Amino acid sequence: MKLHRIFLSLAASLFTLFSSGQAPAQAPDPVTLVRAGRLLDPRTGNVLSPAAVLIENGKIKEVGPPSQVQAHTPAGVKTIDLGSATLLPGLIDGHTHLLLDVIVPPEAESARHLNGDFAPGLLLAIVESPSKRVLLGAQLAREDLESGFTTVRNLGHSGIDGDVALRDAIKAGRVPGPRILGSGRKLITRGSYLQSLNPAVAESIVQQEFLRIEGAEGARQAVRENGFYDVDVIKVTVDDDLTVAEMTALAEEAHRRHLKVAAHAASAGSIQTAIDGGADSIEHGNDVTDEQLKAMREKGIFLDITPTFWGSFFTKIMEPSIVMSPALKSGLAASDERRRQRVASFTQRILKSGVKFAAGSDMCWFYPGKTRGQATASRFPMLYDAGMPSLDVIRAITTNAAEMLGWQDRVGAVEPGKFADLIAVAGDPIADITELERVRFVMKDGQVVRNDLASH
Ligand SMILES: [Zn+2]
Repeated sequence: MKLHRIFLSLAASLFTLFSSGQAPAQAPDPVTLVRAGRLLDPRTGNVLSPAAVLIENGKIKEVGPPSQVQAHTPAGVKTIDLGSATLLPGLIDGHTHLLLDVIVPPEAESARHLNGDFAPGLLLAIVESPSKRVLLGAQLAREDLESGFTTVRNLGHSGIDGDVALRDAIKAGRVPGPRILGSGRKLITRGSYLQSLNPAVAESIVQQEFLRIEGAEGARQAVRENGFYDVDVIKVTVDDDLTVAEMTALAEEAHRRHLKVAAHAASAGSIQTAIDGGADSIEHGNDVTDEQLKAMREKGIFLDITPTFWGSFFTKIMEPSIVMSPALKSGLAASDERRRQRVASFTQRILKSGVKFAAGSDMCWFYPGKTRGQATASRFPMLYDAGMPSLDVIRAITTNAAEMLGWQDRVGAVEPGKFADLIAVAGDPIADITELERVRFVMKDGQVVRNDLASH
């Protein structure tokens, strides 16, 4: 094991040595001018109409009215005219799982796996070939990019290093996909994910997907293990059995390495542990109290809202693929209705509290009839349905998400100095938030990924 590690470490440093500064396979046009009828700035809500964006070497150089920008544009540069479309910064999914695509099992099988069983879909993903899994990740990454997600934060369920390997392959121009912040393995406590596995094989399965925390020193060690694979962020699942001492230790070790900590926390108790222990973002936050929202606002902790199951999600993905009994259908409908009421008040409390928030799809499901990008994009209009104004929804997956990731200097806004990550929709996303599900133009790093608006 030791030798294997040393070899991997050597390979990793050689890779860094040879890959740093490596140009993407397809070099972008050094200068490009993009023109559109409108440009929405999510920070202010202001619309510039008409608008032009000058791009040089993959970065935004100038933004303004076409007459002004064109005055500084060299003659004969490549111009992309998007007609009356609305330009926006590339979208950011703050929480996803590109290497997991669970197919909902038949009803009878689901019924056997209640009570916190290790989900068979997850088990299959772990024990299957890591090579297959990362290639699936490459497909889902491309599909996310094609739907306008130019940056994503991948929070676990990627095997040992699948997400960072995918990140590096995208960076090197080997496969198309969004910028990825990868967390490597998810840190978990003793209880979670383990109970239902055969103890004789449990440990080796769990090690492929998770790092287990045992005490404060163990928590530090888990962060170091992930650091060895060059992760961008630490993901920890905070269950009620994680102690504040463990949480504090792992956050200290992460921050010492300039890594942020994304803490999965749903119950009020686990949210409190995450707050007290120094998490940078709370993922999900289902049962957050007003008191906790206040504490988060004061400490600058982000709430990463995950509207994954909002808007009858399970009904939508199950109906086309499995035979549902009348009892299951009515049970789902009742829980959809309860959720609808719950998320409406959840959303109102978040907006009222003044806490910093972003949003993530937490997508890890196969959605029949949709690409991964379309499935991801279908989640954010659910925030609007729950009472969040359109502009706030857009901020949650652009400007705010960039700040949550610590990448506010690179992405999340259309302004000089940032990466040339742009999307365009045909209509007005403030008037109709579902425009975000119909992204017609995507540019990443100044390179056009898709353009269904091209008129010339
Ligand atoms: Zn997740």
